[in-house]
Amino acid sequence: MNSPAPRAEILRIEPYVAGESELPGANRTVKLSSNEGAFGVPPAARAAIVATAAEAYRYPDGAADPLRAALGKRWGLDPARIVCGAGSDDLLYQFCLSYGGPGRDIIMSAHGFSIYHIAGTYAGSRVIKVPERHLTADLDAMLAAVSPATRLIFLANPNNPTGSMVPAADVARFRAALPPEVLLVLDAAYAEYVTRPAYDAGVKLVDSTANTVMTRTFSKIFGLGGMRIGWCYAPPAIVDVLNRVRGPFNVSVAAQAAAIAALGEPGWVEKGCAHNAEYRPKLAAGIEAAGLKVWPSEANFVLVDLATTQAANAADAFLRANGIIVRKVGGYGLPHCLRVTVGTADEVGLVVDAFAEFTRQARG
Ligand SMILES: *Cc1c(COP(=O)(O)O)cnc(C)c1O
Repeated sequence: MNSPAPRAEILRIEPYVAGESELPGANRTVKLSSNEGAFGVPPAARAAIVATAAEAYRYPDGAADPLRAALGKRWGLDPARIVCGAGSDDLLYQFCLSYGGPGRDIIMSAHGFSIYHIAGTYAGSRVIKVPERHLTADLDAMLAAVSPATRLIFLANPNNPTGSMVPAADVARFRAALPPEVLLVLDAAYAEYVTRPAYDAGVKLVDSTANTVMTRTFSKIFGLGGMRIGWCYAPPAIVDVLNRVRGPFNVSVAAQAAAIAALGEPGWVEKGCAHNAEYRPKLAAGIEAAGLKVWPSEANFVLVDLATTQAANAADAFLRANGIIVRKVGGYGLPHCLRVTVGTADEVGLVVDAFAEFTRQARG
């Protein structure tokens, strides 16, 4: 008997590997594997989630009107150009399914966010990975990879898992050199953490072109990864497409309420950003003091380079034995590296000490 078969490309997709959360047997697990904010759920969001319990039998507001209004107010954007999703991943899938497809190529950088490859392949596109320079997207090489079949380009800025950032002027030049029919998706999941003035999350390009979108998320600095809420800012014609194809009730009642409350939490982003600006350098310096290379990062994590796959696996095993979970990034073509989230002050101290002990023992 034949069993139902998906399209052939579906079985070429490697399932997304999420950061693990538990270590069996450890009495305290320090989870630094998913770039979740260091401070948990904003208190106002937590209260809002509880308050929505009695409304959970009702369908959510499919247009997410109050949330889009709150986002517009917070960032000075026209709410009519905002679309919300069940995480920004939801929107990344919709871009691939709407603008990709058989014969419609997608370009990403070699160590770009893995969802672009998964969602692009799912859509039936060929997904082209362009080599990077110094673990930073090489925009000239990406431009050279563009062909008449190219329809979509994804650029995470800053990128996960490398932490590298492309200055706004370079992104603008890149956009200007791309054919107008190519949609450029600027994934700014870590925008709130960036302190370098040369950065722009993408608002200016969305405003000045008809073919650029910016995606954002509540999963990182806003501490709501478990609620699944993200959004994009896009030109009207692209908003129209998303509103045709997205799930009509893609963002739950609780997620909408939590996001609105998180936006209203006084000082939340400032606190997260200031903590990161203080502890990311401490984390990096501590690991470097242990004798390991750390790549520069603009996000809430650093990429530790152990030079060999064997050393990265050994360090990961050592950290786990000490109750610390970081992220292996072999799936991103970086099997010799580990990605470490900037946690609380305590957690930064614990992981720095663990790396120091690891290299001390490795030296024998
Ligand atoms: C975490 C992350 C996202 C956000 O995903 P959500 O679906 O919004 O939780 C998007 N892009 C990148 C590069 C990320 O690291």
